[in-house]
Amino acid sequence: MFCDEVTFRAIAGQGGNGVVSFRRMAYLPKGGPDGGDGGKGGDIILKANPNLNTLFDYKAQNEFHAENGVSGGKNDRRGRGGEDLILEVPVGTKVFDNETQDLIFDINQPNSSYVIVKGGRGGYGNAHFVSSTRQAPRFAELGEPGEEKELRLELNLVADVGIIGFPSAGKSTLISVISNAKPKIAAYHFTTLVPNLGVVTLDKFGGNKKQNFVVADIPGLIEGASEGKGLGISFLKHIKRTAGLIHLIDITDPDFISKYKKINLELNRFDKELAQRKQFIVLNKIDSITEEDTKVAIDLLQDEYPEIEKVYAISAVSHTGLKELVIDVYNWIQDNKEQIHEEFFETEEADHKVYSPHLEDPKRNLISTEGTITKRDRYTDEEYEAKIFRVSGTRIEQIAIMTDFTNHEAVNRIFDVFKKMGIDKMLKANGAKPGDVVKIGKTEVIFRG
Ligand code: GDP
Ligand code: MG
Repeated sequence: MFCDEVTFRAIAGQGGNGVVSFRRMAYLPKGGPDGGDGGKGGDIILKANPNLNTLFDYKAQNEFHAENGVSGGKNDRRGRGGEDLILEVPVGTKVFDNETQDLIFDINQPNSSYVIVKGGRGGYGNAHFVSSTRQAPRFAELGEPGEEKELRLELNLVADVGIIGFPSAGKSTLISVISNAKPKIAAYHFTTLVPNLGVVTLDKFGGNKKQNFVVADIPGLIEGASEGKGLGISFLKHIKRTAGLIHLIDITDPDFISKYKKINLELNRFDKELAQRKQFIVLNKIDSITEEDTKVAIDLLQDEYPEIEKVYAISAVSHTGLKELVIDVYNWIQDNKEQIHEEFFETEEADHKVYSPHLEDPKRNLISTEGTITKRDRYTDEEYEAKIFRVSGTRIEQIAIMTDFTNHEAVNRIFDVFKKMGIDKMLKANGAKPGDVVKIGKTEVIFRG
């Protein structure tokens, strides 16, 4: 509810294909194999950028691709690797696998990189497969497909500033006119149940688009909130992470000074540290009263609270006084950002275990059975019952997916690998007979025994 959230598919680059090639020499009909390996596919990497504070940039795109590796060449030339795709995200982003809901990364180290999907291995060229019994291999490996994941990125509300104030002070109106947030605005209390998060870009205020900060409209801060009454308490938890506060006051309310006091009392009761946080004191709705009354109101407030350095007088509705406020808030954030980040991120403990999905042990080879299927013999054309075996294991699955099944020699190699890895023996021990079906990943072969 309090998150900035995006989902997208991350597709790492496919490895380049290995190639089949033979050296051409003037007086030899056929030279040795010289087909080079394909290059590795690019990874997709999330980089924690402490200057970002929203996932907004990723909302529009459903898929991200890293570059594929290039195929190998003649003369043992290796293909170029695909470029990694680097996506910058704010510190505090949590990355989930959107299919399993597993937390993949909790991005909490500024400037560090997190590989979310790995590029595929480049396929070996035919030069790689030369052996004493195979001097002229006429096959090469295909590039391995890049890893793919459906991801959900979640950023807990990390607004630079929160807008606090009594119901109807004009918080929702203010956020809607200074930021891209589109909250509900109503003339009665407690309508805003969800804090709205908006990005304020300074291009509307004499700056440029790159200058921005995040503002949160924190509704429902009412008397008793610190004791858990009403909605206030859950919202208060969220303003804990904002660096500064805009305290919005309805200047048309005759009780505005006592309400200002009450809000601060609430803050103090909930969290002393929060009450110490920088506040921009803003009188709203000056369009409804005379200029003179505005001056009187400012004086009243400063007489009562001489420690308030500056009182802003604005009208959210008629857009008066907004520029000065927005620029001051922005400059203050710039000057204090580093310190704020130290306070909130480095010392904050991760709620979840952080792990790298790529450092897991490779899976060992395992055999399981998956029932039977009726097959037709290629030579006798007779039907027979074949057992179905599944072979799983990181390396064998990778080899299978990189095998060019249209190439007879490449298929033969799979059976060589079966022997080398002891998969042959394991299959036989499990009762496999020639003609049975062996599935590896999405591919299948007929067991030769
Ligand atoms: P919130 O409860 O603090 O989020 O307040 P809202 O933004 O929902 O505003 C409450 C009421 O005050 C609405 O009817 C707004 O139209 C009105 N309002 C907000 N800002 C101004 C302003 O600058 N001038 C005037 N006259 N009315 C305002
Ligand atoms: Mg509101």
